[in-house]
Amino acid sequence: MSSNKKKFLLEGKTKKIYTTDNKNEIIIHYKNNITALNGLKNKSIQDKGMINNAITTLIFKFLNSCKVPTHFIRKINPIEQLCYKVNMFPLEFIVRNIVYGSMSKRLGIKEGIIINHPIFEIFYKNDALNDPLINNHHAVFLDIISYKELNIIHNISSNVNTLLKEYFLNKNIILVDFKIEFGKYKNNKILLSDEISPDTCRLWDKKTMKKLDKDIFRKNGDDIMDIYMEVLKRIG
Ligand code: UDP
Repeated sequence: MSSNKKKFLLEGKTKKIYTTDNKNEIIIHYKNNITALNGLKNKSIQDKGMINNAITTLIFKFLNSCKVPTHFIRKINPIEQLCYKVNMFPLEFIVRNIVYGSMSKRLGIKEGIIINHPIFEIFYKNDALNDPLINNHHAVFLDIISYKELNIIHNISSNVNTLLKEYFLNKNIILVDFKIEFGKYKNNKILLSDEISPDTCRLWDKKTMKKLDKDIFRKNGDDIMDIYMEVLKRIG
């Protein structure tokens, strides 16, 4: 049985991590904060942690049921979940099905164009460098990861995209793009980690094309709780 002997380990922009008395497991605590522009915009919104924990839990349970290797064990209370402890790669993996956001700006391509073959991008998590876009050769050169591991991650990401596109479409939601992160468990097995929520995905209503994600906050700082609740209701 996993433990309740919680010890604070670290705190990020939207989560706190605690160790348990099982050295292979951690508790992830979802804070109420929402951030944008690398933390420049930061706001606390009541119940946001609870809703993101609920949404991430549903998505990771679904992925676990599809045999995707993830860190998720179970939700332990409204704002916390128990997960396998992994060594995170300092990389963000983005998968895109429709052109939007940074890709549109970088390449001068109109937002909204459908991408027939999903595009994969790697960003190096480094605040001082403003999280630059890199490729697989840079990641290996930086000694962060091996080609073999990148290949495994590419395959998992592609599978996650296929699964989640369908999962959301069944709820009348289009999966535009998303960010995922990976870590290595004690046996070096690569596990999908972190969260998957409207904070980390672009989700559009299929009929109205209304945004159901963090872009609402990025653009005008509006409260996002009504739309995050809407996502939870649809997938719950
Ligand atoms: N994303 C994220 N965390 C980041 C950067 C991006 O979760 O630090 C997600 C974002 O919500 C979107 C996708 O990754 O679903 C692609 O984001 P993009 O590169 O277009 O960046 P943006 O336009 O948001 O700056």
